[in-house]
Amino acid sequence: MALQKCPECGHQISTEAPACPGCGLTSLTINIATQRTSKALKAQLFISAFLFWFGLLSWFLLYGGALDSTEGLSWSVTAMIIGGVWHMITKVLIW
Ligand SMILES: [Zn+2]
Repeated sequence: MALQKCPECGHQISTEAPACPGCGLTSLTINIATQRTSKALKAQLFISAFLFWFGLLSWFLLYGGALDSTEGLSWSVTAMIIGGVWHMITKVLIW
């Protein structure tokens, strides 16, 4: 018997319980909500990591990692920073 967190009220409930004792959410709804959340977060992890590496690689390939190139700094580094920060936020949300 495992415990899981209710996505609605944060109550610790058994996976075998028919409904959450805190808010009355049924286990079916809880499972669907939990699955949807983890899938959405995984997709975000993937996209943010892609954005980060895409920014980093394009910065090096197109501009040689030059910090004085304003053109290179504009979108490559922006994509890298957004991807990196987004990735960290998503990691914290999952954790
Ligand atoms: Zn609940």
